[in-house]
Amino acid sequence: MVDVIETDVLVIGGGAAGTNAVLKAADRGAKVTMVVKGLIGKSGCSIFASHLPYHDVSTKEKDLDRLRYSVRYYNHYLTDQEYCIRMGAYMRNEFFGDLERLGVYWRRDAQGRLMAITSRVPAIVAHKQGASGPIIMDKRRREIFRRGIPVYEECAVTSLLTDGERVVGATVLDYRRGKFFAIAAKSTILATGHSDYLATRATGTREQSADGIAMALRVGAELANLEIQWWHASDVLEPKAWMRFHLYPNPLMGTQETSRLYNSQGEMFYEQKTHSSGSSAPYTEQIRRLSREVLAGKARWDGGYYSGYDHIPPEITKAHQHQAKVWSKLGLDVGKDRIECGITWHMRQGGINVDTERMETKLPGLYVAGGLGCHYLGGVGPVSYDGKVAGEAAADAAVAGGRKPLSEQAVAAEEGRVFGFLRASGDGVRPIQAKLRIREIMWELGYVKNEQKFNAALDALQAVRRELVPQLSLQSTSRSWNTGWMDALDVCSMLDACEATVRSGMNRKESRGPFYRDDYPYVDNENWMCRNIVSRVNGEWRSRTQPIPTPYLTPEKSREPFFEADY
Ligand SMILES: Cc1cc2nc3c(=O)[nH]c(=O)nc-3n(C[C@H](O)[C@H](O)[C@H](O)COP(=O)(O)OP(=O)(O)OC[C@H]3O[C@@H](n4cnc5c(N)ncnc54)[C@H](O)[C@@H]3O)c2cc1C
Repeated sequence: MVDVIETDVLVIGGGAAGTNAVLKAADRGAKVTMVVKGLIGKSGCSIFASHLPYHDVSTKEKDLDRLRYSVRYYNHYLTDQEYCIRMGAYMRNEFFGDLERLGVYWRRDAQGRLMAITSRVPAIVAHKQGASGPIIMDKRRREIFRRGIPVYEECAVTSLLTDGERVVGATVLDYRRGKFFAIAAKSTILATGHSDYLATRATGTREQSADGIAMALRVGAELANLEIQWWHASDVLEPKAWMRFHLYPNPLMGTQETSRLYNSQGEMFYEQKTHSSGSSAPYTEQIRRLSREVLAGKARWDGGYYSGYDHIPPEITKAHQHQAKVWSKLGLDVGKDRIECGITWHMRQGGINVDTERMETKLPGLYVAGGLGCHYLGGVGPVSYDGKVAGEAAADAAVAGGRKPLSEQAVAAEEGRVFGFLRASGDGVRPIQAKLRIREIMWELGYVKNEQKFNAALDALQAVRRELVPQLSLQSTSRSWNTGWMDALDVCSMLDACEATVRSGMNRKESRGPFYRDDYPYVDNENWMCRNIVSRVNGEWRSRTQPIPTPYLTPEKSREPFFEADY
């Protein structure tokens, strides 16, 4: 048997959700262990955050408009409204103060009130717009190390372990040294994020291969609304390495203006303040409008349209927007020039099916925090709330309960699978080629979907599984920092997650928010305001739906044309 580390709570993932889960579980007196595929606070998508929407919602009449923003425009009625209210109270009472105690600087007025960007949903930034994520994550990282919490960085969890009934731990590959080990935990929190690199252009980073979705699927957890996949429409086209650089359409700091999108003929087709003033994160409306330009031949998904701030006095943009630096780095003038954009596969609103009161899944012992859950689109504030809820619930259960032994057979089987990919030959398929193919398949599935495209994507994914995976072979069998080996493991996660996403999309027979099918071009609130759930049990795919209660806000129409709905 490989080395086994024992802990009360295992936290998998070092973004905003995972770091808060670790700190809150440790506050409850639990022994916590953390495993992160990248570095804590420097991997995943938490570092990209700029605006921190102040989800200060309640059921009071004056606050209902903010609840409407969360429910209608941010989650398209696919969130739990009671969760939004609890999360809003956390944002109001704890989130900013907690971070202030760790050393994050927020501007406050003479009365001590936080100074926010004035818009329908006020937003706060840690520093000049664009720097909130790195600052917050750096403070949380320091705090975790200051407390001496055991951390395994640059180590990937490869599987969840069960005793047949509950999740009892996980297996880990330390890819710096090629060491494989296991962790026995009373409670396990998955927090591997929702921005995965699953399409040719994506906001997800190298290590984000949807491992959390795949590992949960393999132990029989349910996945809900995976098809509710957001896209960015105003990310920089070139150079490719800048593809996740977002030219924000959101209300801008220091001005009442918002950025604009122009087609190849110079016609403006989108600006937030004109076209979706109800939504401060208006990416779903941006791409809906872009789809019309693409159809008219005035833009492509990968270029031929532009974003600009040239209608705003350049001194304001330079003073308040970190994006202004992009223009100068490219030798452009932010007061005159526009930058060509392309779409990128962005965050998934759906994820693992969780109960939002304790962030617990249907599998005892398994909790989920942050973007990986199915209950809310995300954001550094909301996922921090999830981290707190999951951390506290998992710690309380662990302190009260006993630890179960790990199955030697299951650990050995996983070791065999992981080391099975450590093989080299001259004529095999390099794992990166399989990854690129999967990303191409999901990119071709794209924004405008239908039954035919879903079937084509499913067939193509199955061909990768059948034809490429058995031939995967590495350039080197080194156990240390072998990125080809990691790629091979990533391929398996990506295939499972993409297949589940396609199947889930096929089941949803409507269009909503970021999800558009041209064979069902209407929002169907009567039948699809629900969790659309898939799972795989003994190799067999299952599906079911679960209604989402609407205690405070309901859409006015039971059904309306997709392009006419304002959300
Ligand atoms: C480009 C971009 C801009 C954004 N802008 C904003 C914004 O302005 N404001 C805002 O509030 N939100 C913003 N968001 C959303 C916000 O960043 C996310 O909702 C939030 O950070 C998700 O946090 P998380 O902890 O769930 O996941 P992540 O931050 O993605 O963290 C995932 C963690 O899991 C680890 N991991 C993955 N696989 C494994 C494995 N197998 N084993 C161990 N560890 C693993 C990763 O290394 C990483 O540490 C933005 C997102 C993106 C992509």
